[in-house]
Amino acid sequence: QAKSKGKSAYERFAPEMKEVSHERLQIESRLRRALELDEFDLYFQPIVETASGHLIGAEALIRWNSPTMGLMMPDKFIPLAEETGLIIPIGEWVIRQACAAARQWQETTGLKLSIAVNVSPRQFRDPSFVDAVSRALIEQRLDPVCLELEITERLILDNTIETADILRRLDEMGVRLSVDDFGTGYSALSYLKSYPFDTLKIDKSFIRDVMIEPGDAALVRAIINMAHSLGLQVIAEGVEEEAQTHFLQAHGCDYAQGYFYSRPASADSFVAWIRSNHRVSGA
Ligand code: C2E
Ligand code: MG
Ligand code: MG
Ligand code: MG
Repeated sequence: QAKSKGKSAYERFAPEMKEVSHERLQIESRLRRALELDEFDLYFQPIVETASGHLIGAEALIRWNSPTMGLMMPDKFIPLAEETGLIIPIGEWVIRQACAAARQWQETTGLKLSIAVNVSPRQFRDPSFVDAVSRALIEQRLDPVCLELEITERLILDNTIETADILRRLDEMGVRLSVDDFGTGYSALSYLKSYPFDTLKIDKSFIRDVMIEPGDAALVRAIINMAHSLGLQVIAEGVEEEAQTHFLQAHGCDYAQGYFYSRPASADSFVAWIRSNHRVSGA
């Protein structure tokens, strides 16, 4: 945009741009050492069966406790990790930790809980990715069906042949595959019938106003029906209010996740949440 406005616009904004890039360089150099220094942490947010309220598993969400910059949220550093390629070792760490956590909850609760892990595009396309997933499952002795990999729509539409091959290999391994932030991408819906996805996660932007915006309500109902027609399950993200849970129940949405049930919590708090939660499923 600065370019289209000519040189003067660029010069006017140049000092700010310098500051931004300086901050990025700082984050980047600290990000490089964060794994060695053990500064990452996984938080877990419960995913529940909408009809019963039973816990079925959790989504793993990364946090970075930087001693110099404080608690950093993923939106602040995942894009940079992606650009620099650091997402590959960080992503491997996440998958390993997530599988270990799921295995541990299964042992302590006797429930076959599953764990959902976010995968970013560069990580997904890295030649080491499929093997890293397989290794984590074996090392942590986790049943592949208990691992769900979340992939965004944009990634799916980017690079078809390679993407199809990676998805097929993951599917053959037995892990579950979900489309994250569904509805926010370019939605060439045809990929849904050709790729081995198990689940659609309806983006929280549709859930937020589902009780007040008829358009959002119509879209959510349509997504649920379409997903079910294709044999996919549906998770609603960003559920914050009880009324939303009733809407989702009434329209047959399978699973829900959001602040209404729990905010993302540290591993210890998540285990405490399971213990104090009497709606735990016996399945
Ligand atoms: P996401 O995968 O769509 O994760 C859901 C985000 O929504 C999380 O933000 C979660 O804290 C937030 N959320 C959950 N319930 C509610 C709710 O009721 N209301 C609202 N307003 N928000 C809710 P978070 O943890 O900041 O993560 C942001 C994004 O960062 C994630 O979006 C995901 O794309 C990415 N991310 C997180 N962890 C990882 C990771 O380990 N690897 C990769 N590659 N990306 C990650
Ligand atoms: Mg996700
Ligand atoms: Mg499958
Ligand atoms: Mg999402």
